[in-house]
Amino acid sequence: MLDFFPKTTAGDILRKFVVYFPVGLVAVMMVLWMIARLENNPHAFWLIPLGIAALAAGSLHLAINRANKERSDRAVALLSTAIDQSPAAAIITDKDGLIQYANPKFLAMSGYAREEIVGQNPRVFKSGETPEEVYRDLWQTIRAGRVWTGEFLNKRKDRTPYIVAAKISPILQKSGAIGGYLAIQEDITETRRLQQQLERMATIDGLTGTYNRSQFLHLFNQELRREERYGLPLCLLVFDLDHFKAINDNYGHQTGDRVLEEFSRVVSSTLRDTDIFGRLGGEEFGVVLLQTDREGAKLLAERLRIAVEKMRVVSEGSLIEVTVSIGGTQWERHDRKIEVIMNRADNALYEAKRKGRNQVCFRFATTCRDEN
Ligand code: GH3
Ligand code: MG
Ligand code: MG
Repeated sequence: MLDFFPKTTAGDILRKFVVYFPVGLVAVMMVLWMIARLENNPHAFWLIPLGIAALAAGSLHLAINRANKERSDRAVALLSTAIDQSPAAAIITDKDGLIQYANPKFLAMSGYAREEIVGQNPRVFKSGETPEEVYRDLWQTIRAGRVWTGEFLNKRKDRTPYIVAAKISPILQKSGAIGGYLAIQEDITETRRLQQQLERMATIDGLTGTYNRSQFLHLFNQELRREERYGLPLCLLVFDLDHFKAINDNYGHQTGDRVLEEFSRVVSSTLRDTDIFGRLGGEEFGVVLLQTDREGAKLLAERLRIAVEKMRVVSEGSLIEVTVSIGGTQWERHDRKIEVIMNRADNALYEAKRKGRNQVCFRFATTCRDEN
């Protein structure tokens, strides 16, 4: 086990020997002298070299044992100090999974004192949010003698959740049998939060909380591929607020922003969770209506138009009203590219503007004519 540690040297053994031998020599000489005196034995003289030889052999044996023991003690002390001071959180369990040891980093991470968890099953850290398959896979892997790598959502002693990335490995004895398990864990809660924040910033519009243009187009494309496969109806609506420049001019840009936020809230609350709602730019928005045919889309577009018409935003004592023009269309199999359906919806929107705004217009590829 300690093969990596420096071997016991002849010098180590010699240093022990020069201590044990003189001490033993004095003791042996005293015993022999007493025997010679008490028994007045003339052959006692011959006992001296025999005693010294036996003493030398005994001292050497003792020196080797002591030197080896000190070597293994030093190695064990070094290893336990290393794991104790390790910057990685670590626990060691017995073969039944009961905690035998937890290092200070693990205690700090989990919030438990050592005596509170030693002898416990690591399920005390369970939040109930990690799927059971994860634990099943973990036990299957480590019982088979392999290393398991994965993540858990755990709870600290104060019940706050935290995410850990864990590596759990079996501790194999010389016989090959599993003697216990070593788990090395890292708290990745903050890293994960930052990751999610970055992902959010890359996909969500900061002002309205709707998808930004690139994410909207990405999700739209994804859905088009799905619709192509399953042949389900899909409609697209595009919105442009009417005379929005006038709102900015009359009430200021900040109030204009608040109108955009309120508009997004009103539209979101009317849509289903599965619909894709995004800000295409400025005061232009898009909605992809999944599994919705043209009749359903027309009804919904009209409901949205009315909801926006009824919407009011309070600004310094004034009630601001706004209306929206909506262009709509339905996905056709031969559309192929996203640009084709986007252009058709834009044409319908242009039509709605032309007809006096606060209107819903639809344009369909099959009929090639405008519809209200
Ligand atoms: P129309 O009925 O023809 O659409 O008239 P409109 O005034 O809305 O014209 P248009 O759509 O061309 O103008 C959009 C205006 O929206 C211009 C721009 O100042 C304003 N705008 C774009 N993005 C923002 C934003 O993030 N915040 C605010 N407050 N205004 C914005
Ligand atoms: Mg516009
Ligand atoms: Mg506009």
